[in-house]
Amino acid sequence: MYKIAKLTFEAADDAQKDGQLQEQVENYFSALINQGRVAEYMLMQQEGALVAIASLPEADALSEQYDNKYVKRFSEGLSVHWELIGEEAFDSHVCTCQHPSCYLLDANGKEESPVFCGDCGGEIPLYRVPEDETQEHASLLGWQQAFQAMITLWCESLSDRFTRRQIEHPASALNREGRRLARALEDRLNKPVYLYLENPLGYLKKKPPLRHCPACGKPLTAMPGEVWALNLCHDCRLALPQEE
Ligand SMILES: [Zn+2]
Ligand SMILES: [Zn+2]
Repeated sequence: MYKIAKLTFEAADDAQKDGQLQEQVENYFSALINQGRVAEYMLMQQEGALVAIASLPEADALSEQYDNKYVKRFSEGLSVHWELIGEEAFDSHVCTCQHPSCYLLDANGKEESPVFCGDCGGEIPLYRVPEDETQEHASLLGWQQAFQAMITLWCESLSDRFTRRQIEHPASALNREGRRLARALEDRLNKPVYLYLENPLGYLKKKPPLRHCPACGKPLTAMPGEVWALNLCHDCRLALPQEE
């Protein structure tokens, strides 16, 4: 369940103009979003103060121990007070496993993070995933946005062939980038990371699930456990949907 926090901002320096304060706060939130510590936020004026309502994957997401160089830079000269005021109403499951045995990279869902636990199926908040050399997860979040934009295009654009290929083909530009990101994640997590390949026509029962890997042709094997209904290619690190 995502937490809702209220943050109140003040400029440490009184001479700072309102516009500057707002710009700094927006930069501060961008840095938090790129670390996966804030999902969404809304800024407002309340009795002369600049206030934000933000959703966080976990209660400790704003803890200073996670601050990277960008968050530190944009919180300089800024006084931030925050408190948890509630939980999001929709149900979401955040992984609390100590040592997941594998991970899934899946940009299809409504979750904020595209990384999921292979054991419990829960979302892994990105700030708990080791960051890349930029100290952020911007490339992972950018790929997730492109993937979701592609799904929207496919759903809204007469189910055209180009967008479907981007979503389902292992060698599409979108999935090549997904596989590159999954490999990079695997290097940092030291556990297998499988890229989930959607079967857009599966919903319409127009295309049965694949039994062989679409990249190497080897037979797929069922993912153990009952959380995910997926078949895996261990060599290519791909995950494909099973029959519903
Ligand atoms: Zn888990
Ligand atoms: Zn394969």
